[in-house]
Amino acid sequence: MIDRKPEQQPVLLLIDDAPEIHRLMAMKLKDEGLDFLTAFSGVEGIELAERQLPSLILLDVTMPDHDGFEVLHTLKENPATKQIPVIMLSASHASEDKVRSFELGAMDYVTKPVDVPELRARIQSAIRLTRLMEMLEHRAQIDGLTGLWNRAHFDRRLEAELSERKRRDTPLALVMCDLDHFKKLNDSFGHPAGDAVLEAFASLITQEIRVNDIACRYGGEEFALILPRTGLSEAVGVCERIRKALSARTFRKYPEIQAAASFGVTGQPIDDSVGSGAWIEGADQALYSAKEGGRNCVHVFSPHGCAPGTPEAMRIAG
Ligand code: GH3
Ligand code: MG
Ligand code: MG
Repeated sequence: MIDRKPEQQPVLLLIDDAPEIHRLMAMKLKDEGLDFLTAFSGVEGIELAERQLPSLILLDVTMPDHDGFEVLHTLKENPATKQIPVIMLSASHASEDKVRSFELGAMDYVTKPVDVPELRARIQSAIRLTRLMEMLEHRAQIDGLTGLWNRAHFDRRLEAELSERKRRDTPLALVMCDLDHFKKLNDSFGHPAGDAVLEAFASLITQEIRVNDIACRYGGEEFALILPRTGLSEAVGVCERIRKALSARTFRKYPEIQAAASFGVTGQPIDDSVGSGAWIEGADQALYSAKEGGRNCVHVFSPHGCAPGTPEAMRIAG
């Protein structure tokens, strides 16, 4: 998914070898509320698309090095660019060219010489459709009750952040946390009260983490935090702040509720060759240890055994 803020002006990438088409488009589309990127060859276009992730691409079919079909094929094969809508520009009215374009994944096909009002309308329609798709895709990854990211997003982001960690050799921490005796809380005060606690916990998490941290509802009353570029002791500090904030939280409608949560933190996988599962397993073991250790506390994973997140335990785990 391309994360674009709705208020950002859409960016249009024009890939065409003819300078006069670039001039014409710049003039005729200047009032469309678009930022322009220009490429004069297929290779340049593919590179720009990958780097800048434009909102929309206008792609000439007839070009000397890679023709438009080849460029379209490359763009649609690349996970980074395959979502970008492409409008083909071609002098050909031939049905097979149109069919081929759509089969390769083009969103639209416009013939040259370009009918400018028609092109404008097609561009705006493509942008509207893309925004709608981006919004739906975003919504599909949000948990309805808490507004945090959901499990599907967590799975994708953990993979992405783990490869980023490898590439840049930066630390990363993974936290699994779970509300304590939540079944009892539901049984005593009712499910709406339980829901209120889940919402409050999510909002405390959001207050305590940084913008680059990723907070997810893993499922039920279990939450997961991915903390990129964060060392183990810093991660334990974040968890302690959230833990204390929850313990201190009161609920006006349910004055007797005293909520608490346990946390498991890991800064390393159980086995580096296994992938994201080994990270989750480590954080889970630490969470289990926190539950065993009396709940309402933060434990860290270490290959030598899980332990409370004290400076000594972190020295051993690190
Ligand atoms: P522990 O301290 O060991 O974690 O005990 P627990 O009671 O929290 O754990 P358990 O797994 O036995 O119970 C989890 C409860 O969480 C049971 C389930 O009904 C409740 N739960 C899960 N999702 C929701 C939800 O969306 N809303 C509410 N109100 N309750 C939920
Ligand atoms: Mg629980
Ligand atoms: Mg649970």
